[in-house]
Amino acid sequence: MKAIEFTNVSFRYEDDSPFVIDKLNFSVEEGEFVAVLGHNGSGKSTLARLSNGLLIPDAGTVSVFGVPLTDKTLFDARKNVGVVFQNPDNQTVATIVEDDVAFGAENVGLPREEIGKRIDFALRAVGMQDYRNATVARLSGGQKQRIAIAGVLALKPRAVILDESTAMLDPRGRREIVDVVTRLNKEEGITVVLITHFMEEALLADRAVVMNRGEIVMQGAPAEIFERQEELVTYNLALPRIGVICNRLRAAGMPVENTLDAEKLAEEIARCV
Ligand code: ADP
Repeated sequence: MKAIEFTNVSFRYEDDSPFVIDKLNFSVEEGEFVAVLGHNGSGKSTLARLSNGLLIPDAGTVSVFGVPLTDKTLFDARKNVGVVFQNPDNQTVATIVEDDVAFGAENVGLPREEIGKRIDFALRAVGMQDYRNATVARLSGGQKQRIAIAGVLALKPRAVILDESTAMLDPRGRREIVDVVTRLNKEEGITVVLITHFMEEALLADRAVVMNRGEIVMQGAPAEIFERQEELVTYNLALPRIGVICNRLRAAGMPVENTLDAEKLAEEIARCV
């Protein structure tokens, strides 16, 4: 089953402006972990918003778990596909963690007891069970983003889209989020679409998709995509750090094998010296 499917989707923000997404075909399988890469303005956020009905296409069809998005199916689509945005401070609504996590679930009218269970599940899933009564404002950026993810999880979505959700975090916060979504994908079977401009994060995905001017210009296994360095540069994308270090070492005369794995690189260096 396809979790998200775009068929010839076109979208523009104003009637007289150019299409930001133009006849796009794109799909994500249920249970898949897909990384979406692309420089600023390439259409990644628009893709995320079209995927759960926050935006409606001008042409073509978006289907979510087999159901085409229409006015009648919008509510279910938003429950099935949760989106976590970039700025953790714009996504918190309550003072205390458990109230914040409960907010979406309360809005859909779930009974109290069920909400309590979902808060437990969601906080545990993001490793924040010890912060249930904490004050949101006192948390780190990474912790706030984990609370935002928990709020989405409390709605029991089948897919989660993270729209640059690590962009404003420090390296530790980024790691926390990536660990959480990897676990959600592997252990809970939740479909994950990770929109990011950190190449390292894409390495954890099953498939990487590169967007440019509203089109998908590259896709495949992340390691394969990163081998196509010249092409990546034409789309204004940089290689993961480890790839850059490999290139520099080879340029300096150390014949290390190409790798994107830190441990493998360490072994390569040990072999060469
Ligand atoms: P990305 O997430 O890859 O940075 P976006 O989907 O945000 O790309 O943007 C794609 C294009 O749509 C850009 O040219 C951007 O300027 C334009 N755009 C995005 N949001 C709006 C908006 N609310 N109104 C008008 N144009 C927008």
